[in-house]
Parts: sequence; C-alpha cells; structure tokens
Amino acid sequence: MNHHRPYGCREDAAPRSRPLAPDLTRATTFAYSSAEELRAVGAGERAGEFYARYGHPAARAFEQKVAELEGADGAVSFSSGMAALHALFCGLLRSGDTIVVSRYVYGGVDSMLSEDLPRFGIEVRRFDPFDEVSLGRALDGSVKLVHVETPTNPLSRVVDVKKIVELARHAGAWVSVDATFLPPPFQRPLAHGADLVMHSATKMLGGHSDTLGGIVSSRHELLEQLEGFRRRTGAILAPDTAWLLVRSLATLELRARKASDNASRLAHFLEGVRKSGGKVARVHYAGLPGHPDHDAARQYMETFGFMLAFEVHGGLPGAMQVYDRLIVIARAVSLGGVESLASIPLHTTHAMMSAEQRQEGGIGDGLIRLSVGIEPYEMLKADLSAALGL
Ligand code: PLP
Repeated sequence: MNHHRPYGCREDAAPRSRPLAPDLTRATTFAYSSAEELRAVGAGERAGEFYARYGHPAARAFEQKVAELEGADGAVSFSSGMAALHALFCGLLRSGDTIVVSRYVYGGVDSMLSEDLPRFGIEVRRFDPFDEVSLGRALDGSVKLVHVETPTNPLSRVVDVKKIVELARHAGAWVSVDATFLPPPFQRPLAHGADLVMHSATKMLGGHSDTLGGIVSSRHELLEQLEGFRRRTGAILAPDTAWLLVRSLATLELRARKASDNASRLAHFLEGVRKSGGKVARVHYAGLPGHPDHDAARQYMETFGFMLAFEVHGGLPGAMQVYDRLIVIARAVSLGGVESLASIPLHTTHAMMSAEQRQEGGIGDGLIRLSVGIEPYEMLKADLSAALGL
C-alpha cells in the first residue's frame, strides 16, 4: 500500500486526484518541443496556449461559463467594463459608421461616445428607448449598432429589447445590451434577439468589490472581431482576476437572488413609508406595481433586480441628512457587491448633468440609489428606518 505523507518528499509520484478548484496558470508564455509545434499553435492550426495576451486558461474558463449563462456561442473578456465597451464600439465600427445610443447609459460610456468616437469618424446619435418614435427617427443606412442599457441607472427603467431589435433589424443594425444591472440567468437579452450582451464584471458577476473586469457574449462572427481587437489593443483580463471571477460565478445565482429579494422587500418597505406620509417621496423599483415598466420587467426579468432608488423630501439637503445617518449601508460608488452600498446620483453618476437634463431624466435632487447586498434583510431595514427617523 502506498502511504501518503502530508508533506512533500523527493520520491512523491504525481497525484492521481483531481483538484476541485481550477488551477491558476500565471504563465505569459508556453514552451513547445519543436519548431513545427510552436509554429502550428501560433498559426492557429493546432490547439494550445501561445501567449497570454491572446488568451489564457483562466480567462477562457470565465468566458465559457458566462457564455453558457447567456446562451451565447462564446464570450470575450476584458480588463474592465469600459475596455469591453471600447472593444464593442471600436472593434466593430469603422469611420463613416453611425452608432445610436440610448440616452440612459452610464456616464463613462457617455464620455467615450462624446470624446473619443467622433475623433475616429464614428457618428453618435442618441435616442430615448421609452419614446416609441425616437429610435425610428435616428435610424438610417449608416447605422451599424444600437446600444442600450437595461435596467437603467438609477431609476430601474426596463427597455423593451424585442421592439428595439425589430426596428434595428429593419435598418440592418446590430443591437448590443449592457446588462450590468441584472446578470444572467435573471435576464438574457440574446434570447430576445440582441446580437451582443455585455457586463461590467466589476459589478454583480464579480460580486465582492475586489475585481475589475468586463465581458461581451455573442456569436462567433462578432466574437472573432472583438477578440482580434483585444489582441491588438491588449485589454485582456489578468489571470488572477479571471480566476477570482470564475470563483464568483459559482455563487452568482445565489448572491443575485438574495440581493434581489432584499431589494424587493426594501422597496415595499420604503413604499409603505411613502404611503404613511414619512420622509420618502418616491420609490423607483420595477417590482412595484406603480413603476412605469412593471409589465416589461415581468416580461424581461426573472427577478426585479438588486438596484433601487428612492427620493426623500427636502431635496439634496434632505437626502444628505438621511445618507449620513446610514451605518450598515456603506456610502460608496459602484454596485453589485455582497455588501449594500448607497450613493447620491447628484454627487456621483449624474454630477456632470445640467439641472434641466436631470429633470428631463427624472433624477430628483433628493434621490438616493441603493445597490442592495446579501446582508440579513432585517439589518438593512433597521438601518434605513433609523436613517429615515422612524
Ligand atoms: N456599464 C455600467 C452600466 C456601469 O455601471 C459601469 C460602471 O459603473 C460600466 C459599464 C463600466 O464598468 P467598469 O467600471 O468595470 O469599467
């Protein structure tokens, strides 16, 4: 019998067991036994690792799992959500093309669209996904891509993806969806006809506020273009980060379900405070029957999500007072972590907007946005109750 010693010995044979967690390969380059073998792998004629910027085992493991969840042919991962969006826009479009973008997108995306794309001859047009005629007006033969975010930040508006796809198809344009605010399997834009779905993996996919990443899932024809762009620009995920993201995916459904359940209960609680004449003036959560997109949310989302926003009476000073009283819920930007975070959009995501733009977009001065985590519900309710002076 072969007695196993719990420490390393010179005569140790290779273990016959299978590791239950994936190995982490940090290698940036890989050795082969002959010139012909290395040539064939480099030329893509034979499978094998070649150079980490071209792809590596941890990134591929993350990409495969996300592609499965999205129901896509595959996925390409990036070093951040912005890097993923950069590849999506600049890897697929060329000078002379037009991109039509929802008015309700993350501020960083808005800056890239205003500052960078026009410098390379790509025209940017905006549309309102909640105005029936707005997209039709923006579409013509030069439009190559229509890009939307759903649910939106911070009011959890839910875009009718099928309708957008129908109009875009007619004009010969692709549709991409930034689904960062609700991960798979809780919404799957590809099943509704979208061509590409992307996530800032920094948020719920990572889920622990300790990884920066981005990912785009799609079909082979588009993935090849994105992968080529990533190879040329170098924005691949680092192996350590990709490994952590694979680990995060093991609990994605559990985390997102618990966070959404907490958010739904908090939204109903805050709505109760509003109805009873408390400090809350309005609650924005697609799970509430009064939300303008409640029906769309039922069609497109399997839970109503972990993000919610509420407006307090007294404008910005009122919001700051409630905000500064929070103890459990952290005052921080970002979202999708296991811990609950609160931010004031007027000070953070929407600080660059004019007062008129905010008013048009329904962003009240007294708005507080919550990214709800997985803490015990009663703890979060008690924190909000105390902050609201109940
Ligand atoms: N998309 C959305 C909806 C976001 O909220 C963010 C960041 O907040 C991004 C994209 C950009 O992601 P990252 O910060 O990982 O670059």
